[in-house]
Amino acid sequence: MYEIRTAGLKGLGVFSKAFLPRGTRIFSEAPLLAIRSGQTAGDIYSASRFLSPEDKGSLLGLSTHVTNELKIMRWSQAAWYTLTNTVSEIFGRKGRGVIGWPNPKEHVTVLNIFRNNAFNLGASSLFQQAVFPRISRINHSCVPNAQGNFHDEMGRFNVHATRDIEGGEEVTLNYLQELGTARESRQERLWGGYGFACECPACDLSLERARQGEKRRVKMHEELAKYVEGMASGAVLVLEAELEAVQRFIRLLEGEGIAGRELSTL
Ligand SMILES: [Zn+2]
Repeated sequence: MYEIRTAGLKGLGVFSKAFLPRGTRIFSEAPLLAIRSGQTAGDIYSASRFLSPEDKGSLLGLSTHVTNELKIMRWSQAAWYTLTNTVSEIFGRKGRGVIGWPNPKEHVTVLNIFRNNAFNLGASSLFQQAVFPRISRINHSCVPNAQGNFHDEMGRFNVHATRDIEGGEEVTLNYLQELGTARESRQERLWGGYGFACECPACDLSLERARQGEKRRVKMHEELAKYVEGMASGAVLVLEAELEAVQRFIRLLEGEGIAGRELSTL
């Protein structure tokens, strides 16, 4: 259904091997490591030491990012002193690995990998962030063709096509949780969080479509600001006006190619 191969400057990426109709489940995968809110860098490394050699290999094979190195070093240094061997609460495929002594160099690498590859699982999940053996290879796009949902009971992350995907096309997910954010703030968040500058079709302003999309987003924010202002002054408390504002908002989002399930979660 898919293959993992080089995606140019982005490193590796996931590409479809055949036409995938909208709605196709492309991946269903259990995390290598997942953390709940409140768990720390120390927990991530502790859990990684319990992985089987195979899973550890697949974790260490994921990408790191040099631009984040200094930040990670500081984070790692702080976490190193709080390192414990208790991993009872962490979700992962622990159990078959040989547990070695903590190793400072590996500690930095594991944290760098986690930081660079972890997905936010959303507010409704028990887990906050997780790294996956193959799903973590999926690159970001601000106009993605797939969407992931973590299923708490199954303990799996399911990735579905949100539109038809042509054979040979790269499969992409949106790493950012909010929708309709302006280009500048997306770029800032992606650079700060993941260490890359996005060059997706919505970010490449040499494309007419990207310029139009950016205009729509600015318009959407103006509409929302007007709406919030109206709410504050009590002028839009009439149901009809409210409905119209929501419909306008939906039309703008649909212009962005955002619809269906994503829209209902909004
Ligand atoms: Zn982008």
